[in-house]
Amino acid sequence: MGMLNLVLANISRKPATRLYPFEIRAPFKEFKGRIILNSENCILCGICQKNVPLMQ
Ligand code: SF4
Repeated sequence: MGMLNLVLANISRKPATRLYPFEIRAPFKEFKGRIILNSENCILCGICQKNVPLMQ
């Protein structure tokens, strides 16, 4: 009966996913833009690695 209850509960719920790319989520209010790296101007100073820990 557990599986049947789960199926019946999911029928009445809205989908957990979006129809990307047709439905695009609005950006978060803290969103400041994307980082675009121009490798021709990079001098390999490493400042970006220190300031953005996820890039390390
Ligand atoms: S901060 Fe330095 S290493 Fe990072 S992209 Fe700019 S020039 Fe290159």
